[in-house]
Amino acid sequence: MSELEPSVYVGVSKYGQGVFARRRLRRGQQVGRVSGAVLFDDSEASEYSIDLSDGRLLEPDEPFCYLNHSCEPTCELINYTPDDADPHEHEVIVRARRTLQPGEELTIDYAWSAEAAIECGCRSAHCRGWIVSPEQLAALIAQRGHGSRLGDLSA
Ligand SMILES: [Zn+2]
Repeated sequence: MSELEPSVYVGVSKYGQGVFARRRLRRGQQVGRVSGAVLFDDSEASEYSIDLSDGRLLEPDEPFCYLNHSCEPTCELINYTPDDADPHEHEVIVRARRTLQPGEELTIDYAWSAEAAIECGCRSAHCRGWIVSPEQLAALIAQRGHGSRLGDLSA
């Protein structure tokens, strides 16, 4: 098992496992580097894969494979990978978007494409109803209707 980042721990969240602050994290703080394998083929990807926006995916190791989605996330992923880097290397950092108290869950916005979207249960005040990027939300609703109508489609 890989060594866990000292500032976070994996615990039980409403989605199963989640990543939580072990100590107070400051807004803008770089919480940790996401380690993992770089994938070049979508077919190897899991639901945890991070899109590196250049055709590659990053399959995160613990603890950050347990980052859950929120429409109002407490953290964000920053891709620092330079264009001329070795294709097997990557530099993705988890950064706090606001101050987190010990025990608070670290979340990110998965910002999936409309094709990949699933219903969201994050229950934040500004929940979009879907795990989808804000830019693709309108297209998704036009395509599939809002969350409660999913049942009608499968009936
Ligand atoms: Zn949500």
